[in-house]
Amino acid sequence: MSILLKNIISVFSASCTTDINDVMIDHVSIDSRSSHNGANTLFFSLIGPNNDGHLYIKDLIAGGVRNFVVTYIPDGLENKAHFLVVDNTLVALQKFAIYYRGLFHFPVIGITGSNGKTIVKEWLNFLLSPDFNIIRSPKSFNSQVGVPLSVIGINEMHNLGIFEVGISTVAEMEKLEPIVKPTIGVLTNIGTSHDVGFENTHQKISEKLKLFKSAAVLIYKKDQKVDALLSKNIKTFSWSFDDDTAAVFISKTIILNQKTTISYRYNGKYFDIEIPFEDMASVENAISCLMVLLYMNYDAAIIETRMAMLYPVEMRLEVKNGINNCNLIDDSYSSDFQSLKIALDFLESQNKFQKKTLILSDIFQSGLTEEALYSQVAKLVVANHIQRVIGIGTTISAFKDRFVNCITYTDTADFLADFSNLDFSNETILVKGARSFEFEEVVAVLEQKKHETVLEINLNALSDNLNFFKAKLKPKVKIMVMVKAFGYGNGGLEIASLLEHHQVDYLGVAFADEGISLKNDGIRLPIMVLNPESTSFSSIIQYQLEPEIYSLRGLKNFLKIAESKKIKNFPIHIKIDTGMHRLGFERKDIPELIQILKVSHTVQVKSILSHMATSDDKKQYEFAKGQIRLFDELSSQITSELQINPIRHILNTSGISNFPEAQFNMVRLGIGIYGVSNDPQEQKFLENVGTLKSLISQIRTIPAGDSVGYGRRFMAEKETKIATIPIGYADGISRGWGNGVGYVTIKQHKAKIIGSVCMDMLMVDVSEIACNEGDDVIIFGESPTVVEIAEALNTIPYEILTSISQRVKRVFYR
Ligand SMILES: *Cc1c(COP(=O)(O)O)cnc(C)c1O
Repeated sequence: MSILLKNIISVFSASCTTDINDVMIDHVSIDSRSSHNGANTLFFSLIGPNNDGHLYIKDLIAGGVRNFVVTYIPDGLENKAHFLVVDNTLVALQKFAIYYRGLFHFPVIGITGSNGKTIVKEWLNFLLSPDFNIIRSPKSFNSQVGVPLSVIGINEMHNLGIFEVGISTVAEMEKLEPIVKPTIGVLTNIGTSHDVGFENTHQKISEKLKLFKSAAVLIYKKDQKVDALLSKNIKTFSWSFDDDTAAVFISKTIILNQKTTISYRYNGKYFDIEIPFEDMASVENAISCLMVLLYMNYDAAIIETRMAMLYPVEMRLEVKNGINNCNLIDDSYSSDFQSLKIALDFLESQNKFQKKTLILSDIFQSGLTEEALYSQVAKLVVANHIQRVIGIGTTISAFKDRFVNCITYTDTADFLADFSNLDFSNETILVKGARSFEFEEVVAVLEQKKHETVLEINLNALSDNLNFFKAKLKPKVKIMVMVKAFGYGNGGLEIASLLEHHQVDYLGVAFADEGISLKNDGIRLPIMVLNPESTSFSSIIQYQLEPEIYSLRGLKNFLKIAESKKIKNFPIHIKIDTGMHRLGFERKDIPELIQILKVSHTVQVKSILSHMATSDDKKQYEFAKGQIRLFDELSSQITSELQINPIRHILNTSGISNFPEAQFNMVRLGIGIYGVSNDPQEQKFLENVGTLKSLISQIRTIPAGDSVGYGRRFMAEKETKIATIPIGYADGISRGWGNGVGYVTIKQHKAKIIGSVCMDMLMVDVSEIACNEGDDVIIFGESPTVVEIAEALNTIPYEILTSISQRVKRVFYR
């Protein structure tokens, strides 16, 4: 893009007092952290429920950004940059996108519906990319902000657009339609998701259909509810499983060997395609794609070949454990420029290692000349601090000299042949290649061979759980996430990085050591230490951790150490005991606390908190309310006498669910983010985060009368097939779970644990299960759940999760 700023100003009627006559804009941003921000960036300072772009302007100016769209000019910055002042920066962004969209005239496919939007978009991109320079929405950028940003990504070389649009309530589509202005409309599955924002299905469908107001054609699955709402002038191209008046009639689908053959009739002729999926959702999504290809007059033979190559979209951007302690980001399914940018952003957010390597194939469909493309890629590589590039393909080889530290190979086989001469260790490796390069093989050699017992952590589930609780918070309420005890056993650093990415406000740990190791690994979020020992105060100061101060003794000790270092305004958190009787100032301590704080400039009260003893127990409702009242009273006494306005917080996970009126300015989310709730209703909305997996070491059949394990505690009553699993009490599996109490899951069947759990192994009864040595075993996850195990063992899920020993490898994926 290159647009004169003065031409933009009238687009959203902004006012501006500085001279902008010659200012050229070549990039639009809303993200203060983006490495692409520069002198010709136009930064829109958006205001969201948890963030305000205006707060970053000062830093951005220091970093060289010169042009801002704002609702107000932050104090003291008046002449430091160009400010376009508007009433609403989001509306301005949307108006700009409408204007920008108007500059281009190629076909645009607009996709909406309840499910399948992202998959249909990604698949269409894959199916059409051999013939077009495509611009598409990155990831699932389909919202009020995501759609304009996607459209602003268009450049002069593109000749086809594919954008997805999501709405959650009425009046949203009106704003997005003119931004996308689709020429080909695709309505995917209309399902039941997001129904909360609509009065009824009728309203939901008619809102979605607004996207196609001026489209040349609408592609959809024939449906009476939709037909009733279609305007007379819209041309349709429909498909159906049962209505043979549809333009394309699906006459049958046959599932065999994990593939589905779809037979369809079109223009009186019959054709078959085969896709490598067997679930109904994939079949419907594939048919939506088929319809677009038919509408675009693709030849049946080409359709057939390309459809057979569809791939699972959710496999993109997986983080895997690599050889020699590397982290591996697997993005081996596409190589266009847009998705390269996203993958590099993701790589940048993984701050486990300084050292970063990019393995990259030739790039297709960038919309740029090869010259320009590889120069831009080289710039991205520098901006994202990548030390080494391994290029695979003839084109990237030709542009090798653009990169600083680069080796190239003409094809994947060449790279594999030379693999043993390359060094990969203690670094993050991004593997990014077009499908034709078969980078699965590159991933296979770099991936750590399967560990026998692993705790798999689903980072997407963690994000979803976070969002579930965020949605319960009133505007402006901050969120601290507890990552103590190694993220409740799930992995400290990886989870902290993800939370930093999601911009939570605080992290909480139990001891200084945990905080220090997070800081050492590059976590920048503020970290509160719940239980700081006086001996750790010095390192707390050194590492800029924020102590919870819970007694006069602790306060005095901390002040002594901080004063000796001549510290001013060091952030501390004051804990009040309101009934838990664990840590905290009591009512009688408060006057002296206030006296000390009044005269000290060494510390600054960042927050005041308390902790509830019974937030999960409805029977103790009155007690809990009493704690909240006492907290309100004592914390107000402190704030009013000191005339300060710190953050106040008392709720943990079950508090968030049961006492929404007591959110104050922040909540402390713990177990919920890890997918566990003590309320069965709420549990249904949370996603399982951790799956503890192992495999079968050996299988044998013993005759009736034989025994299994120490103490012969299992006696076979009949011939019994048993399997041995390499996980035991030293890994955190309670002995109480053995001897017929607990079970594991093998091939979706329950296998009872028989005999006593040993230190490193346990045995299960697989008499009724067809299984082999080496097969996967699930110790907990979807079934049995941690909640179920905790109940059987008379304990709580917290104990089960945090007992899993550190020798069990944690594997993270998205
Ligand atoms: C652990 C902890 C939390 C989080 O509790 P959950 O029940 O896991 O949500 C909150 N506050 C304090 C002080 C804690 O120790």
